[in-house]
Amino acid sequence: MSDFIYKDGQLFAEDVSLLEIAEQYNTPCYVYSNNTIQSRYLEFDSAFASRQHLLCYAVKANSNISILNTLARLGSGFDIVSIGELLRVLEAGGDPMKVVFSGVGKREDEMKFALEQNIKCFNVESESELLKLNRVAENMGMAAPVSLRVNPDVDAKTHPYIATGLKENKFGIAFESAKVIYEQAANMSNISLTGIGCHIGSQISSLTPFQDALHRLLDLIDELKQLGIEFQHVDIGGGLGITYQNEIPPTPTEYVNAVTSIIQKRDLEVIIEPGRSIVGNAGILLTKVEYLNITPFRNFAVIDAAMNDLIRPSLYNSWHEIKCVKQNSNIKESIYDVVGPICETGDFIGKNRSLSLSEGDLLAIFSAGAYGFSMSSNYNSRPRAAEILVDGVKVHEARKREKLEDLFGGELLP
Ligand SMILES: *Cc1c(COP(=O)(O)O)cnc(C)c1O
Repeated sequence: MSDFIYKDGQLFAEDVSLLEIAEQYNTPCYVYSNNTIQSRYLEFDSAFASRQHLLCYAVKANSNISILNTLARLGSGFDIVSIGELLRVLEAGGDPMKVVFSGVGKREDEMKFALEQNIKCFNVESESELLKLNRVAENMGMAAPVSLRVNPDVDAKTHPYIATGLKENKFGIAFESAKVIYEQAANMSNISLTGIGCHIGSQISSLTPFQDALHRLLDLIDELKQLGIEFQHVDIGGGLGITYQNEIPPTPTEYVNAVTSIIQKRDLEVIIEPGRSIVGNAGILLTKVEYLNITPFRNFAVIDAAMNDLIRPSLYNSWHEIKCVKQNSNIKESIYDVVGPICETGDFIGKNRSLSLSEGDLLAIFSAGAYGFSMSSNYNSRPRAAEILVDGVKVHEARKREKLEDLFGGELLP
């Protein structure tokens, strides 16, 4: 059940009309449903039932502090990839003891701050990082909690830019090297081994790659046990896909059931790091049609949102559903390329879409809750969009639209 549905020919976010949101906050703006976020979280959480688990929401999917706050209140942990994301989690009321720190390029200052905050663990991605972390922790007289991110070399069968678990990808420690590096880590004075993990990619629409990866991790866990190295947790990363068009990914329940049936009675806390599957279908991008440009070759609907607001179509050629906020039954449908005002041919949101449009109409671009605003930029000196969080009849301005003066506020004339 979607929280974005038509009532009397008008699209609503929960109990609020998108026409009203556009009137009050202008366009383009992101609109999120608090209810979708909560119910997705709770579906993962309750599928684990009594099994020891921690859901660490991947902050990079959508890092607005109001969304982090919703999740923190539900007891969520967080997967971060920078100090900026850790600050967001703290600001939102998240518990640092439920934070795992991923990423291939953690800097020393980031390690230091995260250690000071007593995060749950560092997902270490290379031998060099391990050595640096040991040194930083030694200087602070601490032991750094570590889970190695292993690269299980499985094909996630997703877009090559978001496949991360193949041996040629930059992520994680090669499966073949993991044992040696674990032995090394076990002998480091300021490293405390707490777990093992992987993250094989994003927008994955079948269970098989997750199951393959988990089997490989468990094999490694068994081998390491022989060497006297034991863990408290296994982290299977994020990556569960959502429906953009006609994909049918496993539900959170099916996913969790598949995982727990492989882990069975092992005494391990299970960590998952979902991002897209929590927030992806909890958001739309609300935009206005500025012009209908009918050429002899193509029809263009030029909207006031662009690739700087939502880069996924340009970057991954990804498909987003586009719907009229007001159903125009009296206008004939035509085929449009829905494009932004940016000076790039790659600036499109959708191609060959059948829509009944007039200039000034509002459009909703669906499945924009993940990797939408968080990947947005100021390209073409466009202020970033506002973000609105709807909860029933309540409308919360979760982020103000950037002001024009913000665009060069940090710049200095010579
Ligand atoms: C991006 C990322 C995630 C979240 O991926 P989704 O596909 O959004 O679920 C989880 N863990 C790590 C390490 C990541 O880099």
